[in-house]
Amino acid sequence: MKNVLRLTALALSCGAVFSASASSTLFTNVDIFNGTENKLYEDHYVLVENNLIKAISAKSIEAGDAVVINGEGKTLMPGLIEGHGHLLLNGGTLNDHENNRTIEELASRATVNANAVFQSGFTTWRDAGGLNTGLRKTIDSGMLEGPRLYTSGAFIGPTGSHADFSNLTTLNQHLNGPQTSMSRSNVSVNTDTVGEIKAAARQNFKQGNSQLKIMSSGGVASSFDPWQLNAMSAEEIGAAVEVADAYGSYVMSHAYSKKAILRNLDAGVKTIEHGFMFDGEINKKMKEKGAYITTNMTAFSPYLSQIEAINSNPASKRKAESATKAFKNYISNVNKYQPKWGFHTDCVGDVTSCIKQTDHTIYLAGKELGNFYTLKGMTSVNGEIVKLSGIMDPYPEAKLGVVAVGAYADLLVVDGNPLEDLSVIGANEKWFDAKEREPALDTIKVIMKDGKIYKNTL
Ligand SMILES: [Zn+2]
Repeated sequence: MKNVLRLTALALSCGAVFSASASSTLFTNVDIFNGTENKLYEDHYVLVENNLIKAISAKSIEAGDAVVINGEGKTLMPGLIEGHGHLLLNGGTLNDHENNRTIEELASRATVNANAVFQSGFTTWRDAGGLNTGLRKTIDSGMLEGPRLYTSGAFIGPTGSHADFSNLTTLNQHLNGPQTSMSRSNVSVNTDTVGEIKAAARQNFKQGNSQLKIMSSGGVASSFDPWQLNAMSAEEIGAAVEVADAYGSYVMSHAYSKKAILRNLDAGVKTIEHGFMFDGEINKKMKEKGAYITTNMTAFSPYLSQIEAINSNPASKRKAESATKAFKNYISNVNKYQPKWGFHTDCVGDVTSCIKQTDHTIYLAGKELGNFYTLKGMTSVNGEIVKLSGIMDPYPEAKLGVVAVGAYADLLVVDGNPLEDLSVIGANEKWFDAKEREPALDTIKVIMKDGKIYKNTL
């Protein structure tokens, strides 16, 4: 990259002056973390023209009447990307969402959550189920400051799976029982046949969602499914992949057990969510298939049992205990095989609890997997993952998660070197006992999305 930078500088010294307009911004005196390399490019210049990065150079850039931001030696880096969040699931347990929360309450609180995560530095958000495209339209129209949204629409999973929000006594909808509140709002659909899976998948894409989320194994924060459950057959997973493929997109799959993970990969699923049984065999298959894994590192927190969706549900509490034992090799296997790994928080809750969970997740990822691997997972790797949505990509013009010429200008300037200290983007060893903080972090000095400056405290 250094050679490329020298060439850029040379071209400039030969008289190539950029036609900077009022919509241009020139960052001077910044150290660049580019999202892909474990180093900083010191004392650089970055020119943004309209919504894209136009030039990066070690030498000064002639940029006409561009707005100049002197970075004062601070670090310029890609905006953060959440790999697996749930903006609409801002209540407590899954049943709490079904029984006590109207879609109005969930949706209005999702706007608050979207704004809070944006102020925390997340300029792109892959939503892993529940959220449809209304919030994206609101943000993209300029009415609300928030991240770019890649939504999955309704969770797709069978009766009794991790996608089943109904009560124990609710008669199955497919046996003449009532529709759940969550299925009426396209938050979660129970699908028990290949035909129902295809219908739900097509409904999600019809509404403009960018990828599908299936629940192919059991989980912890739900009532009726052992985490070891292999909830969907190969044929059923294949049905979701077939519809996603028809839309040029992909399937992300909640999968805990090894059997479920391998079944997903064989069926063409591109991102394994959680994937705690990750090992050498899974790694080999992931490589063959060009697949990714994203994991909520809170599963390895000493404070896990304090999470509300777990401690208020005896079934979840029991499951968490057995799961923690079974997942003991995950961290050493990830460190050994270094798969294409995306950062994810999987937070379900309100702003205060999700800020704490996110900060703690960043800390855990850094501690267990290293700062660079964590940062790559929060930027370039998650940037690659969202781009798997192909023709359903709502932001198709450029790359995300990297500081590179031609990429979207989604940038942060942070006070400190995140490769050495993740607390500059919020990392916190504490979780539930952490001090409450405002969504806006003092250490994040500049937030730019799509070439527009949303925050500048330099
Ligand atoms: Zn999730």
